[in-house]
Amino acid sequence: MKNKIIILNLLSVVAAVSIHAQTSNAPAAPKFKDIVIDGVEGFQDTPMQPDGKWHVHDPARPQPPIVTPGASFSENAAPPSDAIVLFDGKDLSQWADKKTGGPVGWSVVDGAAVSAKGDIQTTNAFGDIQLHLEFREPVPPKESGQGRGNSGVFFMGQYEIQVLDCYGNKTYADGATGGLYGQHPALANACRPPGEWQTYDIVFNVPHFGANGELLSPAYVTVILNGVVVQNHQAFRGATNWRVPGTYTPHGLTGPLALQYHNNSVSFRNIWVRPVPVVNEP
Ligand code: MG
Repeated sequence: MKNKIIILNLLSVVAAVSIHAQTSNAPAAPKFKDIVIDGVEGFQDTPMQPDGKWHVHDPARPQPPIVTPGASFSENAAPPSDAIVLFDGKDLSQWADKKTGGPVGWSVVDGAAVSAKGDIQTTNAFGDIQLHLEFREPVPPKESGQGRGNSGVFFMGQYEIQVLDCYGNKTYADGATGGLYGQHPALANACRPPGEWQTYDIVFNVPHFGANGELLSPAYVTVILNGVVVQNHQAFRGATNWRVPGTYTPHGLTGPLALQYHNNSVSFRNIWVRPVPVVNEP
């Protein structure tokens, strides 16, 4: 009798294993569940932001209010005498492919650098900087949400200020133009229509780490989009990434400036920086 019970138990284990095997062969359930709330596609299966109010990429998070920029601000701004010009419309000799370190896959068309194939980054590293650049979203606009004119400006190669065509195109607030991607939405949506040149004037402060790698002060950023302040000395919560709130990994005091290729052809021009070290003495 005892042997019969053992055999029955063995049979049930075999059956369970076989059922499990069949389940494993079934089509995998979607790994991530995107949802739409009020016409905004995003996620609520992501971790909460540290403030506990919103998920990362939460479509319910309020949209930045639309502010129509003035007719012009810093468009075609000539670089100051001490600026380091990173792109003057001629070539991308100051840039390399971010992944390989080799030649960039971007092209220069009519004085504009057009994103393609992969992210690019400067061959030089920078610390605290003032950055000016201009970008232009493709026409006609294609796709929607994060799929429309996606690029980005990465300070130190890892802290992204989003570039997206958000003119009449809603997306989760922490992923819209001028946002610290996945962390802080812009204070305003000051986007111009696709096809028009738009300006970013940005001041970035590097994060500082202690001897044991502890964070002493975060990275800060002040962002002016088309003459409208959309971030006012906002702290990064760490490197920006998809679906995660951001964490810091200790690093040095300088890093490359990077521009993102995100499956869309976004144009850039007139890119220059000025080192602006933070002076802590009163
Ligand atoms: Mg981006």
